[in-house]
Amino acid sequence: MLEVSKLSATYGQHRALEDASIRVNKGEIVVILGANGAGKSTLLKAVSGICEGQVSGSITMNGTELVGMKPDRIVEQGVALVPEGRGIFGDLSVEENLTLGAYASRAKDAERSSLDKVYALFPKLRERRRQTARTMSGGEQQMVAIGRAMMSNPSILTLDEPSLGLAPLLCKELFQNLKRVRDSGIGILLVEQNARASLAIADRGYLLENAHIIHEDTAEKLANDSAVQKAYLGGAASKQAPVAAPISPPPRPAPSGPSPSEIAAAAMKSIAQPKTEPAPKAPAPKPTPVAAPMPTPPPSTPPTSGGVNGIDINALVNHAREVSAGSLAKPTGSLPSRPATPSTPTSQPRLKMPDLNAHGDRLKSMLAEMEEAAQRARQRNK
Ligand code: ATP
Repeated sequence: MLEVSKLSATYGQHRALEDASIRVNKGEIVVILGANGAGKSTLLKAVSGICEGQVSGSITMNGTELVGMKPDRIVEQGVALVPEGRGIFGDLSVEENLTLGAYASRAKDAERSSLDKVYALFPKLRERRRQTARTMSGGEQQMVAIGRAMMSNPSILTLDEPSLGLAPLLCKELFQNLKRVRDSGIGILLVEQNARASLAIADRGYLLENAHIIHEDTAEKLANDSAVQKAYLGGAASKQAPVAAPISPPPRPAPSGPSPSEIAAAAMKSIAQPKTEPAPKAPAPKPTPVAAPMPTPPPSTPPTSGGVNGIDINALVNHAREVSAGSLAKPTGSLPSRPATPSTPTSQPRLKMPDLNAHGDRLKSMLAEMEEAAQRARQRNK
C-alpha cells in the first residue's frame, strides 16, 4: 500500500537519508528503529510532504506518487501524520481538536462517523470531549493527537516518537491503543526510541543507521536478534558487531523559541480575551502544552482579507507575534490593526522568536481552519 523506494533526502550538503526503501501494508505496524540523527524523522516527514530538505526517489500510496505532492493532498491520499510533540491545540476542547482533523475532503463528509469511530476506539475521549486539551495528561493528549489524525480517515497512520515523555504506564496504554488502531485495518508506520515496547506490538521493523536502511525483519526476529538487543534493547553484549550506536534516550533539548502552534494558541487565547484586556505581565502559571505544528498543514490558500467569523486573522497573528516577542511593554487596549513591523530586540527578550514570515501564511490558514472547526463543533453541541 505505502511503498517507499530509494528515497533520499538532503539538507544542504548533509545527506540525512539515502536510498531508503520500506513498505507498509494495510493492518500492520511497521517500526523504524535507529539512533539519534539516523534519519527517522526525515523519513516520516518526507512521506508526509513536510521535509524541509531536498527529497528524491519514490513514495507511492496505492500506486500514486507522493513525492512533490503538497501535504494536504497527501492526507487526501490517505496518509496522516501524528507529529512528534503531538501538536494539539491546548486551548481547544478535545472534540474541537478532533474536528480539526477532518479538514481533508476525503474526511469532511464522514466527519460524524469518523468522530464516532474515534470515540469507539478511545472511549475516554468521548467522556472528555468537552475538556480543554491542555488540562489532560500527556497520555490522554497523545490519544487526542492520534484521534485527530484518524479523523482524516487515513489508510496509513505515521507516528513520530509518540511515547516521548510519557510515564511507563501511559506508554503501555499508548501501545495498546496503537494495536487497536492497527486491528481496525489501518497500517501504522512508527518511529520509536522505545524499541522494546514498539517491537512488542509491531509486525515488522527496519533498522536505520546513518541514513541507510541496514536491516529488515519481522518484529519477533528483531527482538530476538542479539545485535539488535545489544544496540537497542540494552541486552547483554554479543560477539556480533552492534548494528548502531546505543541510543541515548530523551530528554531532547527544549525548542529555542515558540513554535508556530504556540503562536497560534496565543492567538486563539486573544480571541477569548476582551479587547480591552491588557497583555499579561507574567507567563501563565501552567503553560499551554502545545508544541508541534499540525499533522499536515491545511490547504495552502490562506484567507486573504476579512478574517473568519468576524475575526481579523491578520490582526490576531500580529498580536500573537508581539505578545510572544515580549514587545508589548504596555497594554495595547485592543488588538493591533496596524501591519506588522519588525520587532526591535530588547536587551533581555522574554522569548526568542523564529522567523515568522516563513510561517505567516500557514498560521493564518491554521487559524482559519481552527475557527471554522470550532464553530462547527459548537453548533453541533448546541
Ligand atoms: P532523532 O531520533 O534524534 O529525532 P532522527 O533519526 O529522527 O533523530 P532526523 O531528525 O531525521 O533524525 O535527522 C537526520 C539528520 O538530518 C540529523 O543529522 C539532523 O541534524 C539533520 N537534520 C534534520 N532536519 C534538518 C533540517 N531541517 N536542517 C538541517 N539538518 C537537518
